[in-house]
Order: sequence, then structure tokens, then C-alpha cells
Amino acid sequence: MCQPDLHKLPRNIAIDGPAASGKSTIGTLVANKIGYMCLDTGIMYRAVAFQALKEGIDIADKEAVERLAERIEINIRPASSKDGRQFDVIINGGDHTWDIRTPEVNAVVSEVSVYAGVRRAMTLQQRKIAEKGRIVMIGRDIGTVVLPDAELKIYLDASVEVRAQRRYIEDLSHGKDVCLQDVIESLRHRDEIDSGRALAPLKAAEDAVVIDSDKMTVYEVVEYVMGLLKQRG
Ligand code: C5P
Repeated sequence: MCQPDLHKLPRNIAIDGPAASGKSTIGTLVANKIGYMCLDTGIMYRAVAFQALKEGIDIADKEAVERLAERIEINIRPASSKDGRQFDVIINGGDHTWDIRTPEVNAVVSEVSVYAGVRRAMTLQQRKIAEKGRIVMIGRDIGTVVLPDAELKIYLDASVEVRAQRRYIEDLSHGKDVCLQDVIESLRHRDEIDSGRALAPLKAAEDAVVIDSDKMTVYEVVEYVMGLLKQRG
């Protein structure tokens, strides 16, 4: 087991990568090992998408969605229930932990994330959260835009087939009625929009360590990241 020198850890760690590449699982495990906080910024974009659907806002109405992003209140708190959640996601006072993970939200979250005003509002909040340091921040643009000065940047990749298979098994274990082909299509759709957008597209920062996790277990990826922390310390 690689144990880095805890006094020499990077101030912040950025983990980016495509949908379902294991960022959240790896980020949480690494953060737990080194006593850092972990923030999955995908939650924030999902919250905006969910709330827009809930309020009946037309997703194509850029200004309306941007105004929503300015006023939405998103709180991420320690899990209050043992139903498989890692934390509670509170949106405008209500617990919507699972509501942000539905196929309906999956279908529109990338469209919402293209809007400049949405990105501006979320990026601002994310930088504020990271100010204190000791955070593992997960997303698409953390190493490139949100925290370009992060001392360790990881880009976690995997083929769409492997990612879909993992997401499919995860969904089944949560009792969801899913079809593998639909999961593949949904991931492809989001990948395409996320990497093709002009603003803060999904891509590895030039100074990121790229990890292809296709043939790696979760344990191996975590060990690899812990090894990087040890080397850099
Ligand atoms: O990571 P997750 O799949 O939950 O993210 C949902 C969506 O939120 C992504 O497909 C992407 O469109 C958007 N997102 C983003 N920038 C981030 C994190 C997520 O655009 N930093």
C-alpha cells in the first residue's frame, strides 16, 4: 500500500474525464484516504437540469436556464440515509439525491451545461468551495478551467463500452430497469456534446496524468493515484 507524506500533498486535486469513467468512485476513495473533501461538480449541472425540468423551463431557452443557474441553491451534505447514496443532494431545500440521476436528466444535462451563464455560475461556486484547499474536485473542466493551478490533475478515461457496462451494472444494483444499449447511446450523446462544446470542453489538461482504466480495477486506479501522490510528495 502506497502511503504518501500527508504534509506534502497537493493543495487541490482535479479529476476530469468522460461520463461514467469512474471519477466519482476513484475521487471519493482517494479523498477518504488522504482526508480531503470530494466534490463531484456533475451534481451541480445535474441539479440545474433537474430544476429546469421541474419548473417546466424550456431547455432550449438559454436565458431562462441561465437565470435559473443564478438563483438555484445546491447543497451537498453527508448522507442521511443508507440507501446507497454517498451524500444528500439538496436543491432549493428538497432532497433530490436520486432525482438528478434519472434518464430524463441524463438526456438534457449536457445541453444545459453548454450555456455560458450556467458555466459561469457553477464555476464561481466551485472556485469558492476550493478556496480553502484540501479538495478533490471532479468534473470535465476542472484541470483546464475551474482549477488550472491544481497541483495534481488526473484525466480518467475508458472506452464507451467499458463505461456503459459499469454504469449498467451500477443501475441494475439500484433496481433500475435499464437496457445496455440505451446506456451506451446516452453516454455517447453526452460525450459528444461535452467534448464538442466551445466553452470548457471535456479534454485533458496539458499537464494532466491520463489514466486509461479499461483494464484496471478500482483498487488498481486508486493505488496508481496514491503512487502519484507519493512521488510528487
Ligand atoms: O459527471 P456527470 O456525468 O454526473 O456530469 C453530468 C453532466 O454535467 C456532464 O455530462 C456534463 O455535461 C456536465 N458537466 C460539465 N462540467 C463539469 C461537470 C459536469 O459540463 N465540470
